[in-house]
Amino acid sequence: MRGLICPFALFVCFVVGCSPAEEKAVMKEVEASETAAQKVYRGDRQNQATEQKSDAFWKRASVEVYRSPEELLAQDARERRHGLVLDKIARGPGDKHELALTFDDGPHPDLTLKLLALLKQENVKATFFVIGKMVEKHPELLKAIAADGHTIGNHTFSHVTLTKIPVADIQVEYRANNDIVKKTIGQNMKFCRPPGGDYDSDVIHAAEACGLTTVLWTDDPGDYANPGDNVIEERTLAKLTNGGIILLHDGVKETLDVLPQIIAYAKKKGFSFVTIDEFSKK
Ligand SMILES: [Zn+2]
Repeated sequence: MRGLICPFALFVCFVVGCSPAEEKAVMKEVEASETAAQKVYRGDRQNQATEQKSDAFWKRASVEVYRSPEELLAQDARERRHGLVLDKIARGPGDKHELALTFDDGPHPDLTLKLLALLKQENVKATFFVIGKMVEKHPELLKAIAADGHTIGNHTFSHVTLTKIPVADIQVEYRANNDIVKKTIGQNMKFCRPPGGDYDSDVIHAAEACGLTTVLWTDDPGDYANPGDNVIEERTLAKLTNGGIILLHDGVKETLDVLPQIIAYAKKKGFSFVTIDEFSKK
């Protein structure tokens, strides 16, 4: 349980002043209670917002902190030093002038169709890491993404930080998304991305158990923080390298504004755009 239950139970006891017997009872109750993710997966979606607010795991896990490309690189180097070989794609092949655009957090009711139109106009295929509960709300948008030939990946059902929830719930999150995507477009996804890029070996192994390879990124223009068109453009263009995986978001207006320039610049530099699926085959 990643050391979360005991501190939580002890905290409760500290606040309310439990006796050792009561303390044991609190711990038992916490261990027995389902997390919000498990409830979601079991179809009990009533009062989901309230559950998310009150569930201690959920509260911690809802805070998304993005790992920078440098942090991801350092983590990768650490794994190699320790001889840890994890099933993940941190970048594409370095010998080809290719890039992968990835869009997280969709489908988005206002912007997904605009993004699809833009990609079609530019003749670019991308990879969309979708959130299960967004798919549930907007199934027609997922169908539109799939119909345009983009690769679809799993970005969990509820968009929680996977290193902060109990290990058992990591699979629950990925499977719930697998199920809704399969139900909507009949497709088995092959790739996933943990929210914030926050992963450890438990997260990677849980993904593997759900038939998913974890995909990270090499470039993060920070579009989710709405830094302004120029900043997104500059940050993206400054770092284009062979096999680069660019993290962007489906649902950020500024991303749509600068995407044509980013694509035009990359093409001018001789890069072509591929999906993560294509990267993985090379
Ligand atoms: Zn996300």
